[in-house]
Amino acid sequence: MDTALADRLLPWYREHRRDLSFRRTRDPYAILVAEVLLQRTRIASGLPYFERFMAAFPTVVDLAAAPEERVLKAWEGLGFYGRARNLHRAAKAVVADHGGRIPGTFARLRELPGIGDYTAGAVASIAFGERVPAVDGNAIRVLARVFRLRGDLTRGDARRGLVGIAADLVPPGEPGTFNQALMELGATVCRPRAPRCPECPLRDLCGAFRDGQPERYPEIPPRPPTPVIRVAFALAQRGGNVLLIRRPEGGLLAGLWALPGGEVGGKRDAGAVLRAALSGLGGGARVDGIAGRVEHTFSHRRWEGVVYRVRISGPLGSREDATWAGPADLERLPLVPFHRRFLERLHGPEEH
Ligand code: SF4
Repeated sequence: MDTALADRLLPWYREHRRDLSFRRTRDPYAILVAEVLLQRTRIASGLPYFERFMAAFPTVVDLAAAPEERVLKAWEGLGFYGRARNLHRAAKAVVADHGGRIPGTFARLRELPGIGDYTAGAVASIAFGERVPAVDGNAIRVLARVFRLRGDLTRGDARRGLVGIAADLVPPGEPGTFNQALMELGATVCRPRAPRCPECPLRDLCGAFRDGQPERYPEIPPRPPTPVIRVAFALAQRGGNVLLIRRPEGGLLAGLWALPGGEVGGKRDAGAVLRAALSGLGGGARVDGIAGRVEHTFSHRRWEGVVYRVRISGPLGSREDATWAGPADLERLPLVPFHRRFLERLHGPEEH
């Protein structure tokens, strides 16, 4: 095991690390929440969510017992809602299979639903002191530059090689601190653009710095252009209420409440999409003009489309996944954020 990197990194971290609330705890549950919630999220925007989430669900038992709707509400606006649902499922498994105690090894954490290598490594090393790596995007960048690693380090042999290097570097005495230090260096010094090499404790070990080309690493494979998908949604109102449906399992934004509708394409034109979304909810539905436009970019696709005003006639049907939401419901329910913004633009936030 080569200790040169840890010998430089750990003292730097003790002096320079940011004082962040989730680092002040040894509670494995809080560490698990932080690691899931802050993935692919800027710390400044994620921290208020972490604090609200811990206040709402202070223990794994509280989280396991909560209805999914409350969990999604606490996550609303953070994106990547599958992570919230996975964390909820993991909490249930911890209560059902582990007596409410977060398992203390990488291997057993990895068995929890939705917990991947990164999260298992972070929790095992930080909360339980297991000597395993935790390689997030920041750590990948630092290691790619120090060791001049080529190829797509997020998958395949290149990924396995990177994880092997990271595993070898983790010191037995302070694995969690080392993993956090590596990620912190990537977040604050070894940044994607304009890394601050003169301030870096690793510069005398760093191959990319020696070459004078740190930004060449890691190699980012070209991404295909983001497909733009047309969408159509219905704005149906009665009295002061607006019709919402809960988005189905397995799809985008699953479990969140939304205006009825979805993707247009193939044989499904906007009319067909709206008819399917509104089926069983009234005697008939008639489009009554355009209420506005919406757009939203996911990590892998972009939605652009129209919200149609729709009148629903006849006696209202009822569906378990549909509700006529009044202002208090809109406050309480986890709502697709760009639909919430749309409704607020339409009526002003005070009405909803
Ligand atoms: S010397 Fe520069 S490129 Fe190398 S690890 Fe440090 S900040 Fe990154």
